[in-house]
Amino acid sequence: MNVEQLKQTIRDIPDFPKEGIIFKDITTLLSNPEALKSAFDILIEKYKDEKIDQVIGIESRGFIFGSVLAYMLGAGFTPVRKKGKLPYKTKSVTYELEYGTDTLEIHEDALSESTRVLIVDDLLATGGTVKGVTELVNGFGAEIVGIAFLIELSFLNGRQKLEGLPIYSIIEY
Ligand code: AMP
Repeated sequence: MNVEQLKQTIRDIPDFPKEGIIFKDITTLLSNPEALKSAFDILIEKYKDEKIDQVIGIESRGFIFGSVLAYMLGAGFTPVRKKGKLPYKTKSVTYELEYGTDTLEIHEDALSESTRVLIVDDLLATGGTVKGVTELVNGFGAEIVGIAFLIELSFLNGRQKLEGLPIYSIIEY
């Protein structure tokens, strides 16, 4: 399946979770075996020679892509979760949302200075979430080798907020 065909498997849900948002529903891509395989094949091809040590998946859709990518790349998987979900001692970051703020956490012993990291999430919108995650990773002094998304909503200019970082997305709107 090529990128254009892959794009056709994503379903638009208008006014979800609130009015004015067009939600990109990836469950229709995930349930299509050919589409799922293509999406993973593209990401694996991109990162297979990058010697990734840890794939960081952002709760919760980043877990779907992150864990399989970790397995295929011979890396480990590290979750970044919403506040209060991780059981051990954590480092946290609070970042701006459209309305208010949110907090993400990572286990304080998850990475080290020498860790080569790939950050994965399903979708890049304003970039606030992933910016927060890069701050968590930088707190360890680890190296961000890549930041991969299935989808990028380029009209929201998330890349501007993430200038200089190695962003990659398969599908752009
Ligand atoms: P942001 O911090 O603005 O880049 O938002 C990114 C997070 O919000 C991602 O984890 C997405 O899963 C989710 N998200 C934001 N906008 C949408 C959208 N239009 N459709 C689906 N998910 C979205």
